[in-house]
Amino acid sequence: MEIKVAKHAGFCFGVKKAIEIAEEVAQSNDGNTYVLGQLVHNEKVIKNLEGKGIVFVDDINEIPQNAVTVLRAHGEPGTTYATLGEKSIVKGKNLNDATCPLVTLVHNVAIKLKNNGYEVVIFGKHNHPEAIGTSYYLKGKNTLIVEHEDDYRKVIDYINENNFQKIAVISQTTMSVLGYKKLIENINNEMNHQFEEIPLSLKNLDVKYGFVDTICNPTKQRQSDVDELAKDCDIIIVIGGLNSSNSKELYAKSLEYGVESYFIQSEEQLQKEWLEGKEKIGVTAGASTPDYLIDEVVERIKNINNTNNELMKQRQKN
Ligand code: SF4
Repeated sequence: MEIKVAKHAGFCFGVKKAIEIAEEVAQSNDGNTYVLGQLVHNEKVIKNLEGKGIVFVDDINEIPQNAVTVLRAHGEPGTTYATLGEKSIVKGKNLNDATCPLVTLVHNVAIKLKNNGYEVVIFGKHNHPEAIGTSYYLKGKNTLIVEHEDDYRKVIDYINENNFQKIAVISQTTMSVLGYKKLIENINNEMNHQFEEIPLSLKNLDVKYGFVDTICNPTKQRQSDVDELAKDCDIIIVIGGLNSSNSKELYAKSLEYGVESYFIQSEEQLQKEWLEGKEKIGVTAGASTPDYLIDEVVERIKNINNTNNELMKQRQKN
């Protein structure tokens, strides 16, 4: 049996940096360190950080006045900074901003498109902090967010019902590359006008209908690794947190290839029956999965395989 671990499995640089910042801040802080929302969408990592004096809160009102605070990689709307400012939590003093630079890039793209007369639609998850954060740089709750390639009708209806001068679509950084491509294709197939790609540099802002590829490179690398695994593996194990958008995308992609696939959070969930008769096992993990969880899964696959081989030998002897 061969185990193939994806080249880019696990933590991306943005998540790694956010965890490093939170750990460093917590270590040098005698009291609690507050993080608004899940720093990373992985239950085991969160538990480990809680043991280091980090308190995770979902509601900004739970952060006390003057508290040492870390903002996660997913990015926050301006309103978060304003509310924290009212609590005397500010950058350079007690606010440590771990927003990934690639999320900040999406915010900047959104702002520049808006300032250049575009109505901006987001391809993203309605309840994902990144999409919500980006929407606040546009029209807040009134920003149109579409989750799926089949939601193209919503975009077309939105255009038809309004008299926008220019319209542009951008994406949450962790969405499916193929899903985004299909969404644009579906819109173009139904409309008289074609959505053209606007480069990330936003050099060409004359087009009336455009889209910008804002899916981040680490997400793209993890998705194209699944293409490779699906070519020659009998089964693909995807490791990731239950709330991890990019991990779920990897799992969905793997299923789309028709390969037997499982989405697990840790090695305890691996079932030996899944591996019976399999020659090549592919393993990948979302950007919020630490290396040690991947290593544990690989170790357990090896152990299951050794046990299966022993059983086979015994059966042959008998
Ligand atoms: S998935 Fe991409 S945008 Fe999100 S933290 Fe990682 S590198 Fe940054």
